[in-house]
Amino acid sequence: MRSSDLSASELQPRRLHLLYHELRESESEYSYIVTTQQFAGHLALLCADESVQAGPRPEFTFDDGHISDFEHALPLLSEQRVKASFFITAGWTGSRTGYMGWSELRALQEAGHSIGAHGWSHALLPHCSDVELDQELRVARLVLEDRLGSAIDSMSFPGGRYDKRVLKACHQAGYTRLYTSEPRTHLSGGVIGRVNVRGSMTNTYLQKLFDERSGALTSLERQYVLKAFLQKLLGDRFYASLWSMINRKQPDADAVSKA
Ligand SMILES: [Zn+2]
Repeated sequence: MRSSDLSASELQPRRLHLLYHELRESESEYSYIVTTQQFAGHLALLCADESVQAGPRPEFTFDDGHISDFEHALPLLSEQRVKASFFITAGWTGSRTGYMGWSELRALQEAGHSIGAHGWSHALLPHCSDVELDQELRVARLVLEDRLGSAIDSMSFPGGRYDKRVLKACHQAGYTRLYTSEPRTHLSGGVIGRVNVRGSMTNTYLQKLFDERSGALTSLERQYVLKAFLQKLLGDRFYASLWSMINRKQPDADAVSKA
């Protein structure tokens, strides 16, 4: 096969995008929490000069705007000189306990990190009416731009959920870089996939995700497809209860859209 026969995606180096939520100093039963020690280990494994990682460095992304992004992730990222992307639920900024305010977001920006949107209220976008979608996408972007004084052109879908209507609305609202939580390295419909990093993932397992021959990423992607099927079959409310039970989290307003 000549190189011109290869599609653009096949020519792209395999790059993983990692998704984090909250960092804590101590371990938690809630599977979405990664300890600061684990995160420091991930940076050393994948980004340090003596890293064993041969391919392109992963992109580190954080969803929801937890205060731990500023308190714990920022110093560790600075130590390894790694730039990350932070996706912010605009309506929670400065108004919800445990989440960042505008001064913390500005500090992330000043340190060279990228800020993107994660909706206004963390609503699942395919369920929104046109008016709600406008608030979640366009208004969220305008408020972030106004308060941070810079262009916001990236967006991660709450709960990783989107459909054709949401994609169209995102483009109309001015977002050019879109992220979901489906674990894959290829672009699908222009949307970037990410591996949702959990506290139970070991460094050995993370390394396997980068090794195409291990099949670990393919297996993770299959699990995600099965989960999406169950979500559709059971409906979001019942699935949210099941999700909270599996992930050891008390159901709350956020839980329905996390998985
Ligand atoms: Zn989220």
